[in-house]
Amino acid sequence: MATNELTQLRNKIDEINLQILKLLNERGEIVQEIGKQKKKQGVNRFDPVRERQALDLIIEHHDGPFETSTIQHIFKEIFKASLELQEDDHRKALLVSRKARPENTIVDINGETIGDGTQRFIMGPCAVESYEQVKAVALAMKEQGLTLMRGGAFKPRTSPYDFQGLGVEGLQILREVANEVGMSIISEIVTPHDVEIAVDYVDVIQVGARNMQNFELLKTVGKVKKPVLLKRGLAATIEEFINAAEYIISQGNDQIILCERGIRTYEKATRNTLDISAVPILKKETHLPVIVDVTHSTGRRDLLLPTAKAALAIGADAVMAEVHPDPAVALSDAAQQMNIPQFNEFMNELKAFKEKLA
Ligand code: PEP
Ligand code: MN
Repeated sequence: MATNELTQLRNKIDEINLQILKLLNERGEIVQEIGKQKKKQGVNRFDPVRERQALDLIIEHHDGPFETSTIQHIFKEIFKASLELQEDDHRKALLVSRKARPENTIVDINGETIGDGTQRFIMGPCAVESYEQVKAVALAMKEQGLTLMRGGAFKPRTSPYDFQGLGVEGLQILREVANEVGMSIISEIVTPHDVEIAVDYVDVIQVGARNMQNFELLKTVGKVKKPVLLKRGLAATIEEFINAAEYIISQGNDQIILCERGIRTYEKATRNTLDISAVPILKKETHLPVIVDVTHSTGRRDLLLPTAKAALAIGADAVMAEVHPDPAVALSDAAQQMNIPQFNEFMNELKAFKEKLA
């Protein structure tokens, strides 16, 4: 008998669930109508005064077994879902998403492409220190058939007393060497104001990890006609990283390269923790090329080769690493830059590894 009663009660619940469902959908249709009216009248979708009135009316009539706060919570969720129903499609699908653009975006840097399936290498010193230093690295890169050179002229250092970079003079050195040797230049810019100057010298503007959420900088680089290499923030989630790229593309610039460079975790064996799975996630969720910086993610010279192999194997569009003619005297990142013989060995190993992958 008791089980029969239970079954009856459960049947009643099922019936009520279906009634609630029907009412929710009826409500949803009206909400969509309201959305259209609001759009016609140019009224904001979210109306907190109206929401307060609706909530007050519900609470006034509430005398059931639920706590008032519980009822409030349930209705707030319904309101939230309703607001989402009113949202335009382009707001739901980010411009950087695969949903918005199914095909891969290919970034063209003076004819060298990133994101078309050929895996590239971006090498160069951590910071520009002198003409001779940059030239030595550029010549070694040329020997290896590489053309994408990095080098920091504006260095965002953790300590204000550390070497801050040569600034515009550094950009001039990079350009001079690039023109002599036939290289394209990737260099970090740290303020919106410097973007205007930088476009005359660099081929790709880098936005560094510490500036991933510098929204004014993101908007400024979104307005220029130069590719942007955007690095993942020190402790940024993938969602935050994607939204940072959205800031750039929303201003019109779709030439964006995403760079996984390790994130901060409790692990101390490496400088950062390389989030290798971010690569396929980002490639799946966005149409942008994704590269891996093995230098800053590991902070260890002995890990550059194995992590670079992992990056290539997982489908990264390029690998970035730092090279210095004499790392022991480098003004930044001395412990992790490769010298030229180490760089040659690194490149030879990776070229052989790429052959095996193909
Ligand atoms: C860099 O690439 O020079 C750099 C400073 O890296 P990150 O912004 O990833 O720390
Ligand atoms: Mn560095």
